[in-house]
Amino acid sequence: MSDPNDPSLISICGEVLLSKACQTINFFYQDYHISGYQYNLIYYALSQDPYRLQVYEAFMPPTAGAYYYEKGLHLNRLMNHAHPFYKFALVHECTHAIEDFMTRKVVRTLDSEVAAFIAAALYERHNSPFSEALLNDLSVGDNQVFSVARRVVAGLDQPGITITPAAVAPLIQAVLKDPTEGPEISNNPLLTEMGYFT
Ligand SMILES: [Zn+2]
Repeated sequence: MSDPNDPSLISICGEVLLSKACQTINFFYQDYHISGYQYNLIYYALSQDPYRLQVYEAFMPPTAGAYYYEKGLHLNRLMNHAHPFYKFALVHECTHAIEDFMTRKVVRTLDSEVAAFIAAALYERHNSPFSEALLNDLSVGDNQVFSVARRVVAGLDQPGITITPAAVAPLIQAVLKDPTEGPEISNNPLLTEMGYFT
């Protein structure tokens, strides 16, 4: 048995996962129903003794905030925990954890990616209304998918909404064009996720 999760990392995760902004996420997308209650369960999974989800700090590229792989949540050791991008990444990765714990095996599909981006963008929107400056802020990461995600959820933020692929078509295109994972998803829709969070 490994050591329990570090209390400071549990606290960082709790601040995001138990926040009202995260708890009010509630939407359907394809096979998924992602809602605030599930983020509670992810928090319990990493805070209970024995934990069911391990959380680590790790070194990773400066453009990555976090990644999730096989019941391990990895947080960027060098990124400021208060940075909006860090929190966006945390919600995105915990959405993958929800998808894996509650709905299916550890596989990454286009649907699961899109759902994770919708969830993280809704969290951000609940946290603070988007300004034009934030919508256009690409200062963290080279990943324009986040910017697109923020734009598409602007008209889709209603509790319990069923979001269709047509409603998020620009986000789907952005994920597929993402240099890291887009080609892998489009060539192999059931590819096991190997790493970074896009
Ligand atoms: Zn992802």
